[in-house]
Amino acid sequence: MRIGIIGTGVAGSLLAEALADAPGLDLLAFERVAPGEHAEAGTGLNVGPNAMKALRLHLPARHAALRAASLPWRRWFVDLADGTRLMDLDLLDVAEDHGMRIRWSELYRHLRAPVADRTRHGHVLEAIEEDAAGRLVPVFRTAEGLARPGGFDLLVGADGRYSRLRALTCGEPESIPLGVCIWRLLVTEAADCPYDDYGQWFNGNHRLLSFRVPGGAVYIAGTFPLPRDGQIPEEMKTEAAQRALFTPAGAPPCPAVAWMLGKVATHLPDIHWARSATAPLLRHDPSGRALFLGDAAQAMVPTLGQGATQAVECGLVAASVIRTGGGAREVAAARDPRVAFVRDFSLEASDTLVPGTDVVAGTRAKIAPDFLAKLRRTYTDVT
Ligand SMILES: Cc1cc2nc3c(=O)[nH]c(=O)nc-3n(C[C@H](O)[C@H](O)[C@H](O)COP(=O)(O)OP(=O)(O)OC[C@H]3O[C@@H](n4cnc5c(N)ncnc54)[C@H](O)[C@@H]3O)c2cc1C
Repeated sequence: MRIGIIGTGVAGSLLAEALADAPGLDLLAFERVAPGEHAEAGTGLNVGPNAMKALRLHLPARHAALRAASLPWRRWFVDLADGTRLMDLDLLDVAEDHGMRIRWSELYRHLRAPVADRTRHGHVLEAIEEDAAGRLVPVFRTAEGLARPGGFDLLVGADGRYSRLRALTCGEPESIPLGVCIWRLLVTEAADCPYDDYGQWFNGNHRLLSFRVPGGAVYIAGTFPLPRDGQIPEEMKTEAAQRALFTPAGAPPCPAVAWMLGKVATHLPDIHWARSATAPLLRHDPSGRALFLGDAAQAMVPTLGQGATQAVECGLVAASVIRTGGGAREVAAARDPRVAFVRDFSLEASDTLVPGTDVVAGTRAKIAPDFLAKLRRTYTDVT
């Protein structure tokens, strides 16, 4: 069976590694960036305990390498911007493994290295054709011109949120906006950062989220509601606007928020601004010849840090299914109920970002038994 993987990000690299020694498979991966080029991935990630459990069970060597390249994600605390603590959760109360905090470039480096010999870099998927046997033939743009590497029995779209394979075989997915702006920043001079593990700080429905990552760096993300037209107003991309969003009325910001606002001021041009959105879940094309994994199938809201986390599960679970002779439909059966649950739960957990929601009550609900039971299911229910 000939399998082609488009994209060696999280899901694609893990799928390729987990299938590398599978008998009877001829496997080739295609990646648009050059070897060793991880520059587009400049920020940090918190990857959930469920991804670490899946790696521990399916690919122990990769689990060990990623543990060594990351910091453990042990706690999740939530404060108000004046420092009032609302929640402080030990992840092992709801999980069997710690999560990890890692620089995105390091995650890609560790995942791509083991599959380098099977990857054709500098290949950008442009079009899809069909061969005489009815197999899909990907057409790539390369530095030398168009490349057609022949027909594949299964083409895997692991090419991320704007999946070209999904668009070519099933049409562009509808983008479902969450109505919030999310900005991200990686600060590398952070020795004086007053916190370590994963925290969130709310001023009304405006939220800062931050944690340390290896190499003495700190990842910061800010979230605030967008106006009705859904666009990010240019006037919000200023130091003064961001200070106003995250400074509590009538009180100074706590040391953590003050530190982050100082970094916003000095790194304003480095901030990456985006609008948070999801897309409908789709696992494969109608013929079953194109399979979608990770963001290509299931763009997630970022609230519970389940984007890369679910992409890890996707790559590893799809590999187990394919090893036992399954195809796109069997992967859908193994993945879709789980992904639907995690997506719905991530949306439910985004309640405190919505204007008018009571942040104190919404956060306290996250330490109530119902929410914690769902969090435990998210973090442990790994195939
Ligand atoms: C700034 C930011 C912060 C985030 N923080 C977190 C977090 O803390 N925790 C978390 O779990 N998730 C987080 N996410 C989400 C997470 O990064 C994604 O969910 C995850 O990377 C998806 O993995 P993937 O394998 O589906 O796709 P990706 O990792 O996006 O990989 C796609 C791959 O396909 C390649 N590619 C794309 N198009 C083509 C093409 N046409 N031809 C060939 N190759 C192509 C790309 O170069 C890339 O290598 C964050 C996302 C962003 C943007």
